[in-house]
Amino acid sequence: MVEVDGDSNLKSIIQHIVLKNAFEHDGKPRVDVVISRLIAVKPEMRSKIKEIIPVIKKIVEEISYMTLIEKKKLFENLFPLFEKEKEKEDTKKTVHFPPLVNAKIGLVVTRFPPEPNGYPHIGHAKAVIIDEEYAKMYNGKLILRFDDTNPTNEKLEYYKAILDGLEWLNIKPDLIKNTSDDIEIIYKYGKELVLKKNAYVCICVQNKIKENRFLQQECDCRVNQDNYPERIDHFFDGNFNENQAVVRFKGDMKSQNTSMRDPTLFRIINHTHPLLGDKYNIWPTYDLAAPIEDSLDGVTHAMRTKEYELRNELYFEILDKLSLRKPEMIEFSRLEFEGLPVSKRKIKPLIENDIITRWDDPRLPTLIGLKRRGFTAEAVRKFILSLGITLAETKPSFEILESFNRKIVDSDSIRLFFVKNPCKLFINNNEAEKILLKNHPNNDSLGSREIHVNNIFYIADDDFNKIKKGDEIRLMELYNIKIDKIDDKEKILTAFMTDREIRRDIPKIQWVSDGGCVDYSILVPDILFKNEKFNEDSLVTLTGFCESHINLLEPDDRIQFVRMGFCRVDDASTAIMTHK
Ligand SMILES: [Zn+2]
Repeated sequence: MVEVDGDSNLKSIIQHIVLKNAFEHDGKPRVDVVISRLIAVKPEMRSKIKEIIPVIKKIVEEISYMTLIEKKKLFENLFPLFEKEKEKEDTKKTVHFPPLVNAKIGLVVTRFPPEPNGYPHIGHAKAVIIDEEYAKMYNGKLILRFDDTNPTNEKLEYYKAILDGLEWLNIKPDLIKNTSDDIEIIYKYGKELVLKKNAYVCICVQNKIKENRFLQQECDCRVNQDNYPERIDHFFDGNFNENQAVVRFKGDMKSQNTSMRDPTLFRIINHTHPLLGDKYNIWPTYDLAAPIEDSLDGVTHAMRTKEYELRNELYFEILDKLSLRKPEMIEFSRLEFEGLPVSKRKIKPLIENDIITRWDDPRLPTLIGLKRRGFTAEAVRKFILSLGITLAETKPSFEILESFNRKIVDSDSIRLFFVKNPCKLFINNNEAEKILLKNHPNNDSLGSREIHVNNIFYIADDDFNKIKKGDEIRLMELYNIKIDKIDDKEKILTAFMTDREIRRDIPKIQWVSDGGCVDYSILVPDILFKNEKFNEDSLVTLTGFCESHINLLEPDDRIQFVRMGFCRVDDASTAIMTHK
């Protein structure tokens, strides 16, 4: 009998695996998965499977009676014990999301509030995945709220792009709404702030407002608010022109927190709104709309990136003045990769200069860019969960995302040969033959392909350049050859077939056969910026020959070009390199 109670370490290990599995499968751990993970950690258990199953079942049952918070607590207590296991599973690392304060199962409401002013990127993915994970963790709700109160930058195309991005990430919000749906309600609260003298209509020119903020001075509109009672109706009745007046919160012009120096709550924007047309031209700022919406939508835990930290004081003060319920505020660090900026300020010049013409350009960290490059939504999620909630402003390496993706795409990527800048290879003593190659070394469901070879082959110029007369080389999956002649000028090799025996002591190279290849290109994306400067080699096109089997593949199919890397088929003659 396996001594589990006597072996507290073994019990802890099983508990840890069960909990981890429960978190990954919506609370229902699977005994078979637990067994295989246990064997991975403690191989000596393999011989004791029969005895260990009832033990695992008992632990699964014990854990199933725990509340989510108890589970989290136990899991966290067990965590330090498993550094070793963590190392082994590096990229499988489970989420480390701390429990939320004041969170009750079934009552947590989170929200993802993007502005529809661009295509969603990896930073949005992080935000919405955190929102969704917490909602799931507490069996709560997730709201998708388009924060669309700045019509200058917003387009219908972007609402759709955000919905598509969420769909790709397999995130289904419980409610989808727009801040603009509530514009009348926000007007009501805005007017209330002015009537209560917590806000005022300011008719100073923009530069004056800026200067006063800098000098920490109050303007006449604020100091003598009582002298201008008519301004509020004048403003909300639409009698001011753009830039003639704004409504400002009565904060503290002396505050060290600059966002408290009478921030703007409403401004006039004469621009057609993508959903409401020209019906309104008085628009609330994010500073006003976000706290009101969060409070009215029932959001219990509002999460946003650390860059908004200074605005938290304003957020809560607005709710205070309006006597509205206050959500908990949780911050997390922004996600961005080194050399792959998400800010529009950096991307815009590339678009203006026609360097980037599509939002799905494989160099962009937009979700459609990552998708087109060949990343899976599953890898994006696993990567983001592995980061957990941290406040440290570090830029994680892109390679971590690649390694998550590699593990996922490896099993369904067809192995094919591609030769870049092809050079001819004649085999003097070869007879025409048909060979059958497996499309994947381990996944038989990907089938096999038949290749007709004769005495003419092509190899990549990189390989050609390394070859010397007399070298022995293996043509992968075929046979060994000995180089007889090299014509450096015409880039032609002549060789003899020697034998078929697999030898480890000679180089192996990929090839395509003259009778079975097609022209093909591979786009290789790299980071957009190196040392803050645009990387001229950020998108390189490799041209060459690929096995004609590629003609049977469809866009989105995955390939691993042998000795090159993983690619996604983009169109009939092009693939995009996802990663090595
Ligand atoms: Zn003023």
